[in-house]
Amino acid sequence: MGTGTLTIDLAALAANWRALDALSGGETGAVVKADGYGLGAPLVARTLASAGARSFFVAVAEEGVALRATLGPTPRIFVFSGHMPGDGDMIRDAGLIPMLNSVEQMTRQIEILPDHPFGLQLDTGMNRLGMEPAEWAALRDIALARNPALIISHLACADEPDHAMNAAQLAAFREMTDGIDTPRSLSATGGILLGPDYHFDLTRPGIGLYGGLPFADAKPVAQLSLPIVQIRDLVPGETVGYGNTWSAERPTRIATLSAGYADGLIRAMGPKATLWHGDTPCPLAGRVSMDLLTVDITDLPQTPTHLDILCPSQTVDDLADAAGTIGYEILTSLGPRYARRSIGASQ
Ligand SMILES: *Cc1c(COP(=O)(O)O)cnc(C)c1O
Repeated sequence: MGTGTLTIDLAALAANWRALDALSGGETGAVVKADGYGLGAPLVARTLASAGARSFFVAVAEEGVALRATLGPTPRIFVFSGHMPGDGDMIRDAGLIPMLNSVEQMTRQIEILPDHPFGLQLDTGMNRLGMEPAEWAALRDIALARNPALIISHLACADEPDHAMNAAQLAAFREMTDGIDTPRSLSATGGILLGPDYHFDLTRPGIGLYGGLPFADAKPVAQLSLPIVQIRDLVPGETVGYGNTWSAERPTRIATLSAGYADGLIRAMGPKATLWHGDTPCPLAGRVSMDLLTVDITDLPQTPTHLDILCPSQTVDDLADAAGTIGYEILTSLGPRYARRSIGASQ
């Protein structure tokens, strides 16, 4: 087989949800946008529903329609982008709950789906989605009279516990919502870790479920193993890959692996990335190509058939560090070419 193998550990995924649920106090939802952070929304959502999640979050209505087909009629599915023009049929037919972000979206919802459930998203300083305080003040009585399912806001700096923005957003959220009966939600993964003041009625973890920081205690969920296509021996002075950026300084054994930047192994990880054979590191040699990696395996005592790039020796965040990015981007970039398998299914 020429493709890499992406293995999703469903037991680890469920354990991460349970661990975040135990921290959360109230209800714990699950964010499965962007195809379940690249790991496969149907598989991920079914696993989390079995673990006990009853409220799911997606970015756009189209994702919600697919998720409804996966999960059946019971779980709640919230849509962060709210009610966009043309979404009315999807929201109604799939029973989605749009998080209304503006007066414009509220008006659209009331005109098109007057009796359909909705939630509200408030902006407490991130300036990305949600109603501004003044907008909310003007709309609040009308919105609350229609009995929203949930009121949320989102923290901009929750992965930095000491950042003053956290307390500022918490205060703004309380100011805008204290005394309201509607269930409230402020925290994604980072906010859960900030403590009970941030939890309110429902939390919305994403990355922590999938094994990423800031949930340092997460169990790794994704493993990625790449087959070796070819091996060659170089004499000192020979070069490897595009641009001749790497030269052999000793007699060197180079393995060519099947996966590249088209598979989410982004080119920027270049010189810093490492492949692994068990706990032996094998450095990348030369540039990442579209479909191939070239790796120095001189120090391996034997010649393997595969090397690992996500494994116990190298987490998603380690790999992200090598590429100057975040675990979220590594996961959501993984792409469609891998053979995908799962382990640890409960039934
Ligand atoms: C993506 C997202 C989440 C989940 O965030 P994580 O950091 O992955 O836990 C929660 N809420 C909103 C509004 C989001 O956009």
